[in-house]
Amino acid sequence: MNLELKNFIAEKNYPTFDLKAAFFDMDGILFDSMPYHAQAWVKAMNEFGLEFSLYDAYLNEGRTGDSTIDELFVKQYGYVSDAAERQKMYDLKSQYFNEFPAPKQIPNVFELLKMLKNKGLQIFVVTGSAQVSLLETLDKNFPNIFEKGKMVTAFDCKIGKPDPEPYLMALAKAGVEKWQAVVVENAPLGVHSAVAAGLFTIGVNTGILKPEELKKKGANMIFKNMREVIESWKKIF
Ligand code: CA
Repeated sequence: MNLELKNFIAEKNYPTFDLKAAFFDMDGILFDSMPYHAQAWVKAMNEFGLEFSLYDAYLNEGRTGDSTIDELFVKQYGYVSDAAERQKMYDLKSQYFNEFPAPKQIPNVFELLKMLKNKGLQIFVVTGSAQVSLLETLDKNFPNIFEKGKMVTAFDCKIGKPDPEPYLMALAKAGVEKWQAVVVENAPLGVHSAVAAGLFTIGVNTGILKPEELKKKGANMIFKNMREVIESWKKIF
């Protein structure tokens, strides 16, 4: 057990740490889809006259489309957008996103997943995604890792990240305690959600953000890529 984990247990006053489950975010952790999401957001928002940069897109990753658009509206126009307007903007973003090819896997994440599966950990995906055929997509890319029932998606959540709701739901579905799970996240709001749920949170900064953005939200450890995570795993737990 490493220092960060010891400090975490002490700070939370948990009885111990006994890892049983690993909760993986999807975009930016399993799939290298964030460059496409970010470019689609920027293009769509700019077309509607809203200032929005790639960096903004990464900062807002994980927020629902509604909430992202609404915050922009209030900041830049001073009023709340109406639902039809938001839908139009989100549809345009989705259209641009869908013009991109299917995203590739994040390098080495499959190796990490297999390593953890072999250790007997429950593996969950915890995402704001509302893809109907998500399990199929996951199965095709990461055979024998994910299972129906071991997923938390937009269909399970009322609020979503950055609220702790999705990770609290993953805990409940896995039937484990807060000191028996670890989260792997790439986005500040995802880290916020996991930390607020009381979980040990590994930030993997796979995008363009400064690592401080993940630190600020309380990530317990931050890595640059999955290779670093694989190499450090034994030292951490
Ligand atoms: Ca993410």
